[in-house]
Amino acid sequence: MPIGDTLAALTEAAGFDMSPRSERPPRARCGRLLKILLCGRCSFDCAYCGVRTKKEAYTLDPADLAGIFLKMHREGRADGLFLSSGIPGEVDEAMAGIVETGDILRKNGFTGYLHLKVLPGAARADIVEAARLADRISINLEAPSASRLSEIAGVKDYRQDIEKRQAWVADAMPGRHTTQLVVGAAGESDAEILGCMERQYRRVGAARVYYSAFTPLPGTPLQRCAAAPLWRQHRLYQLDALVRAYGWRADRVADVLDEYGFLADADPKILLARGLPPVDVNAAPYPDLLRVPGIGPEGARRILAARQERPLRSGADLRRCGVAHRAAEYLRFGDDGVQTTLFAF
Ligand code: SF4
Repeated sequence: MPIGDTLAALTEAAGFDMSPRSERPPRARCGRLLKILLCGRCSFDCAYCGVRTKKEAYTLDPADLAGIFLKMHREGRADGLFLSSGIPGEVDEAMAGIVETGDILRKNGFTGYLHLKVLPGAARADIVEAARLADRISINLEAPSASRLSEIAGVKDYRQDIEKRQAWVADAMPGRHTTQLVVGAAGESDAEILGCMERQYRRVGAARVYYSAFTPLPGTPLQRCAAAPLWRQHRLYQLDALVRAYGWRADRVADVLDEYGFLADADPKILLARGLPPVDVNAAPYPDLLRVPGIGPEGARRILAARQERPLRSGADLRRCGVAHRAAEYLRFGDDGVQTTLFAF
C-alpha cells in the first residue's frame, strides 16, 4: 500500500482519541499536532471503537513513522506528535513500538512536543521509558468504573489493565498525565462520571480528564445506539472546570444533577448560583467571588488585588478585572445594596 494511503488511514483511525484536540501542551511549543496510530488494527473488542473493525494491515514501522514525522517537522508541517496504536497481537509489542518511535525521535534531535499513549496492560518498564521520552503520557479509562467498562470492552480488565497502569503512569509522570472517558456508550450517568472525575483529580493526580461524546460507528456492535449529545460533553467540561480549576468537591456540585444523576443542558455554575443573594464585590472573600458566574479564579484574584487600591464602583472597574457581563446580576457594590446591573457593564 502506498505510504500516503497508510498515513491517511492511520491519522483517521487515531480520531477516536479526543484528548489532543483540547490539549494545551505545558510549554506551549506545539502548534500543529500530528495525531496518528502506529498500527490501525486491534484484537481488542472495545464496542465503540472503529479500529477493531479494520481488517486492512495499516501499520508503520517505528523507524518509518519517526522518519516521516521528522521530515514533516523540518518542512514546518508538524510541531508535535501524539502517538497511539491498536494492539494487533501482544500488548508489549505494540507498546514497545510506541516507545521506540519516541526514542528514535529524541535521538534524532527532536525536542518538540511528544505525547505517548500508554496501552492497557503495558509493562511498567515501557511506561517509565515513555515518561522519560515524552512531554505527556496518558492511559484512557474510557468508562467511569469496572462494571461500566465491562459493558463496552470485555477484554480489558479495568483494575489490572487500566487502573494499575494508571498508578504507574502517575508515579512516572506525576501531575502531567491525562485520561479520557467515552461519554454515553455504557449507559453511565453523569453522577458516575463526576465521582470518577473527582477521583482522578484528587487521588490519582491527573492533569486533565477529557470527555468524548459517544458516536456510533458503522460496523461496530454499538452502531445502532444513539449518539451522546455534544452538549453533554460540553456540560461535563464545565463541571470539570469547577472540580479541577476551582477545587470544588463533587458533593458541592452534585446539586446540578437531576434525580437520575444526569446534567441538564445548562451551565452548572449558573445553576449553582441560582437563588443566592448578590455578592458584595468590595467585601466578599475569594470563595464567594468564585461562585459568581462570569468570575473565574483569575478574575476573583484581580478583584481582590484591585480593591486593595480602592473600592470598585462601576462596571468599568469590573471589566478591568476581566469580569464577564453575565456576572452583573449576581453582584452588588457594598452595603448600599446597589446592584451592578444598574451600571453599564
Ligand atoms: S484497545 Fe480498544 S479502543 Fe484501543 S484501539 Fe483497540 S479496540 Fe480500539
